[in-house]
Amino acid sequence: MSSPIWHPFTQHALTPDATLVNCGEGAWLETEKGRLLDAISSWWVVTHGHRHPKIVAAIKSQADALDQVIFAGFTHQPAEDVARALIEIAPHGLSRVFYSDSGSTSVEVALKMALGFWRNQNKARTRIIALEHAYHGDTVGTMSAGARGVYNAAYEPLLFDVVRLPFPQAGQEHQTLERLEAAAADAAALIVEPLIAGAGGMKIYPPALLHDMARICRRHGTLLIADEVMTGFGRTGTLFACQQAGVTPDILCLAKGLTGGSLPLAATLCSQEIFDAHYSTDRSRTFFHSSSFTANPIACAAARANLQIWRDEPVLERIAMLGEMQEARLARLRGRFENVRRLGTITAMDLKVSDPGYLASAAPDLIRFFHARGILLRPLGNTIYVMPPYCVTAEELDLVYNAIAEAAEKFP
Ligand SMILES: *Cc1c(COP(=O)(O)O)cnc(C)c1O
Repeated sequence: MSSPIWHPFTQHALTPDATLVNCGEGAWLETEKGRLLDAISSWWVVTHGHRHPKIVAAIKSQADALDQVIFAGFTHQPAEDVARALIEIAPHGLSRVFYSDSGSTSVEVALKMALGFWRNQNKARTRIIALEHAYHGDTVGTMSAGARGVYNAAYEPLLFDVVRLPFPQAGQEHQTLERLEAAAADAAALIVEPLIAGAGGMKIYPPALLHDMARICRRHGTLLIADEVMTGFGRTGTLFACQQAGVTPDILCLAKGLTGGSLPLAATLCSQEIFDAHYSTDRSRTFFHSSSFTANPIACAAARANLQIWRDEPVLERIAMLGEMQEARLARLRGRFENVRRLGTITAMDLKVSDPGYLASAAPDLIRFFHARGILLRPLGNTIYVMPPYCVTAEELDLVYNAIAEAAEKFP
């Protein structure tokens, strides 16, 4: 019997039936067809590994106390604790936390906060500036800020215009900064993925450039939105990528790793100025945004446990070690791939093909190739990347990189 499910980013006419997964543990998934090494952290969300015991325990215990509650006019301890903890660890200067339930909604909230900030001061600044190759989610607002391509061509008539900055290629960074300088003065906000464009192909740019972009924004009063949905919680080697550039954004978007990747939860942090622009006895200045499951208590309990793990366990040391292990294995692949690169715990390399890009014909074959070898990898077009959970061992990484080396032979 075929399943009635319509899967995300899946062309069902070309893709074999979805693999049934029964359980997960550490870096592994147990499927109906055997074990799979989860080398992409189940789409970039699982940080410490599947089913970290402290997160599982927190979820169980919260489920026994309060499952869900309306969040307008009501609050609960897990949400209060997580908000305070986030403000403590986030770049200094962020003082308010707005909850939602996915990366996309955290970015929608950020864009709406930025627009409300200007409107409530009667200033006509509505333009959003974004980077080439950006990905900020799959809702209409976040697609608008994201790069245009085959995956959103059908929705193009609904997308709003943004000022698009050229991606800061090595040697051409000045073009990015000049375009920003020209557009910033009357724009509402610049939104960036700090240090690495993820879904856009794991394209990396240096902290100095993020620092320069932040400086230009500051000078023109343009709000800076840091979309750390992917980069947050250690992926780039520091807790947040912004820290490497010494930058405090006006708005910070967090999701994927916030609960250690166990449950959907997102948070949008903002500066006091943005909150204050909405603070008024005039009810028309209210921040009009909500989702039914805003700050779900079980998800917040999972996030609270995750933040406790960051305090109790040597996570940053583990991440530094993982970076070194990745680097050593990557070195063997230089020459076999193009643009072999690493940022923190993330590595990426481009397969030389005649049709590069998201629809590169090699991509589905590569996915099957790795799957057959017990490895979950899901190249972005001809870009193969490895983004494992932090618990992954050297031996497990060898399995991943041996398969990639084999792929280099098989897919010339
Ligand atoms: C994944 C991602 C999003 C969207 O998050 P969802 O939880 O999938 O909606 C937004 N921004 C970035 C940078 C992402 O990597």
